[in-house]
Amino acid sequence: MQIKALFDSQALQKKFSIGWGVSFLVNGHTMFDTGEKPEPLLKNMENMGVAVSGIRNVVISHDHWDHTGGLWEILKKNPAIRVYACPGFSQNFKDKIKSFGNELIESARVLKVSENIYITGEIPGEYEGEFMPEQALIARTSEGLVIMTGCAHPGIIEIIQKVERQFSNERIYMVFGGFHLMDHDERLIEIIAKEFKKIGVKKVGPCHCSGKEAERIFKKEYKNDFLSIKVGLVILSKLLLFILF
Ligand SMILES: [Zn+2]
Ligand SMILES: [Zn+2]
Repeated sequence: MQIKALFDSQALQKKFSIGWGVSFLVNGHTMFDTGEKPEPLLKNMENMGVAVSGIRNVVISHDHWDHTGGLWEILKKNPAIRVYACPGFSQNFKDKIKSFGNELIESARVLKVSENIYITGEIPGEYEGEFMPEQALIARTSEGLVIMTGCAHPGIIEIIQKVERQFSNERIYMVFGGFHLMDHDERLIEIIAKEFKKIGVKKVGPCHCSGKEAERIFKKEYKNDFLSIKVGLVILSKLLLFILF
């Protein structure tokens, strides 16, 4: 298992572009979210040796600009990509994917995307009073399951609990991505971090909309098992971390 951080608000080196939103790539062929716009994402892909032609699946966590911004340019370059969306995404969004000639797959349940890679399927969430369905990506590694989240609008604990229910015999090794805790107060974030420990999550990497306060609290709670997610980071199955040149 290999996961590359293609887009986020921090980078390991100056040559990478940063911005709002996330994009991760699993095993070179399954992309999770596409950041806020195409140019920086494509530039980072080039810098990390990722070709659009090698991408087979793009999983979109939720229909927010900072997660779908790079999608259309990628579909334009590769019409063979299958796009995984939630049934509750807007009709406009779904129609646009089909207009590029790409296959659209919608699932409310856990679904296998590729060997040892799954989506949670739609989890109902809310953003500023509006319905905002979202899905997360799951990678099975030798250490356990790794969960990647976009913004976690349904609630980060709710997402983890869905994975727990569906993969009841497997342990959750790592959770990273946007936890959407920016507007939560310290006490609530501490409760959430403790809940992670109780569930048995071994490593965490809150980034994007998790917020500085959440990063600080999770770091305090997880110490060496806190993972700082930055563009250029490659996570290998044995969690050997290295920087690409
Ligand atoms: Zn976001
Ligand atoms: Zn969002």
